[in-house]
Amino acid sequence: MKLINFILVKILSHLPKWIVKPFASPYVAGVSIDNAIKTVKSLNEKGFVATVDILGEHVHSKEESFKIRDEYCQLYDRISNEKLDANISLKPTHLGMEIDPSLAENNLRGILEKAKEKNNFMRIDMENSPYTDSTIDIYKKCIISYDKVGMVLQSYLKRTNQDIINLDSVKFNCRICKGIYRESEEIAYHNKEKIRDRFLEDVKTILNGKGYVAIATHDVPIIDKIENWIIKNEIPLDRFEFQVLYGVPMGNRLQKLLDKGYKVRNYVPFGEAWFDYSIRRLKENPNIMWYVLGNMFRK
Ligand SMILES: Cc1cc2nc3c(=O)[nH]c(=O)nc-3n(C[C@H](O)[C@H](O)[C@H](O)COP(=O)(O)OP(=O)(O)OC[C@H]3O[C@@H](n4cnc5c(N)ncnc54)[C@H](O)[C@@H]3O)c2cc1C
Repeated sequence: MKLINFILVKILSHLPKWIVKPFASPYVAGVSIDNAIKTVKSLNEKGFVATVDILGEHVHSKEESFKIRDEYCQLYDRISNEKLDANISLKPTHLGMEIDPSLAENNLRGILEKAKEKNNFMRIDMENSPYTDSTIDIYKKCIISYDKVGMVLQSYLKRTNQDIINLDSVKFNCRICKGIYRESEEIAYHNKEKIRDRFLEDVKTILNGKGYVAIATHDVPIIDKIENWIIKNEIPLDRFEFQVLYGVPMGNRLQKLLDKGYKVRNYVPFGEAWFDYSIRRLKENPNIMWYVLGNMFRK
């Protein structure tokens, strides 16, 4: 089965976009802001909150980075006008970090001004290790001028627990995820069990400190362990939330979290760059193809 899945994903990544689109649709909210707003509305109606991301990374010109900055500002306007319970996640290289860190910083500051105006939150996603330090630097600068800014740390990086300790404060708002990029064994753990242990440890370190943690995983045994730990240690509800990627099948685990009063946020990506993102998601979980095929045939 694994081999068939592998071959199917390989084939899909070489097919025209119109063929791939049905397989992509569970993961992306669509191409336009309108599509994203509609998805967030429906998530809010079901009790979920959201964080919206414009798909893409590594822009190659200043002009492209300005376009993305402006789109994020429009997104804050739409979220506010439609009274949605949603914030924004963005990638530094999408705002020009690869061209020049100061370009990304200026674009981020522009978006941050809009976030302030709309009293909303902004999260800076974490990309691969060449950008870890510069992303932490930008985060530290942003947090001086506005409290409602968060960042992301990846449990597979050996440095992460020390970063958490260094950054700990009442303002520290950090999403913990396992990490999605290929990193060398010198700086990152490759063993799955080790990464899961580190994930648990990183979440506990934040909660034993002063910060707020967004627990971003689809790994149900980890969610179970963290939930038990949170209950045992009487961690208040305003210190954490759970986060998942929109469309990843989770059975009824998310509903159970909602029923217990926990905040659950869906990461909702949209935009023109849906193709590469969807192929990445399918590579991570090729079983999705069978769900989609099943739904198509049932229809
Ligand atoms: C809200 C959110 C934000 C994230 N932000 C970042 C970030 O800023 N930087 C970064 O490096 N990484 C980010 N990630 C990705 C993260 O680092 C992991 O690569 C990804 O979540 C898979 O790890 P897992 O903890 O879900 O566990 P896994 O053990 O990988 O997965 C657990 C189960 O969920 C399924 N699953 C997991 N991911 C997917 C998927 N995408 N599609 C379909 N099925 C899936 C798996 O097949 C498995 O059954 C984010 C993840 C989430 C949920």
